[in-house]
Amino acid sequence: MTNHYDLIILGGGCAGLSLAARLSGHGGGAPRTLVVDGRAGYGNDRTWCFWRLPGAAAQELVAYEWREFRVAGAGREELVDCSATPYCAVPGDRFYEASLAAMGRCGRVELVHDAPVYGAVSGGPGRWEVVTPRGSYTATHVVDTRPARAPRQGDAVLWQSFLGVEVEVGRGGFDARRVTLMDFGETPGQRMVFTYILPFSAHRALVEITEFSAVAVAPAELQPLLRGTLERLAPGAESRTVRTESGVLPMGGDCPAFRGGWRAAGRGRARDMRFSGSSGGRRAARSI
Ligand SMILES: Cc1cc2nc3c(=O)[nH]c(=O)nc-3n(C[C@H](O)[C@H](O)[C@H](O)COP(=O)(O)OP(=O)(O)OC[C@H]3O[C@@H](n4cnc5c(N)ncnc54)[C@H](O)[C@@H]3O)c2cc1C
Repeated sequence: MTNHYDLIILGGGCAGLSLAARLSGHGGGAPRTLVVDGRAGYGNDRTWCFWRLPGAAAQELVAYEWREFRVAGAGREELVDCSATPYCAVPGDRFYEASLAAMGRCGRVELVHDAPVYGAVSGGPGRWEVVTPRGSYTATHVVDTRPARAPRQGDAVLWQSFLGVEVEVGRGGFDARRVTLMDFGETPGQRMVFTYILPFSAHRALVEITEFSAVAVAPAELQPLLRGTLERLAPGAESRTVRTESGVLPMGGDCPAFRGGWRAAGRGRARDMRFSGSSGGRRAARSI
């Protein structure tokens, strides 16, 4: 019965790995757990940011923090001292590595990749079977953290669409002392578009174009604005793109992707819709 677990966690993203890492903290007392995830591996695919409030979680994973933020637009600029609650960034790869390390130390919490769940079937109280292309597993409990489905137009009253690049510039560059939360620059027409800049050093930053709109905007549509912003920030400078990230997040409204409805489900808070479809998509038929 090596394929039987006390608990199977469906989905090993932010929510699934957070649960797995927390359970791993119980050492030998942790339930024998398997995390089943559809992706092939982890990379630096996103950057989580938050204000460091007293008692905030994941403080040990913070790679960068800023004690001042900037908001600019209509020819004005406001600089705000936020040293009481610094703005912090956790790179995705740091979170994934820390979670896997915690699971490795525990030894009772495992992960299987490349295993999109085809179905999780309950055979009665405490008897679950989870079917993947990598094999079938049984468990006493199942926690499902997979996104319910990718949000669709009409799900939200407002969409946050963004496209960002982590860039290295040869000269000029960024003021690493402060984060730019919103720089409206020369917003085209009536669009609500702004630039968000996380400066990791004078020569390296994550620069993102974000648009709030009634319909979701594909990253490709934001590309010209991003190019213009980079040219404005470091005119004529040689730049190297380290990586790209993009997403479309529903805001407000009654989004089905946020609703519960699972019998043994725990869900992350934010759901993302990616035009690339690499996360947030409904990949497999489900039985629960
Ligand atoms: C580029 C980017 C930046 C973001 N930045 C922020 C931010 O700063 N702050 C914020 O709050 N949110 C942000 N988000 C939203 C982000 O989705 C959430 O922060 C968080 O990742 C949600 O956690 P989750 O576990 O619910 O989903 P995810 O982290 O997306 O994890 C879902 C997991 O389920 C797996 N999965 C899906 N279907 C299956 C299946 N059938 N079988 C097996 N596994 C499956 C996926 O492979 C994935 O690993 C960002 C999103 C993106 C794309």
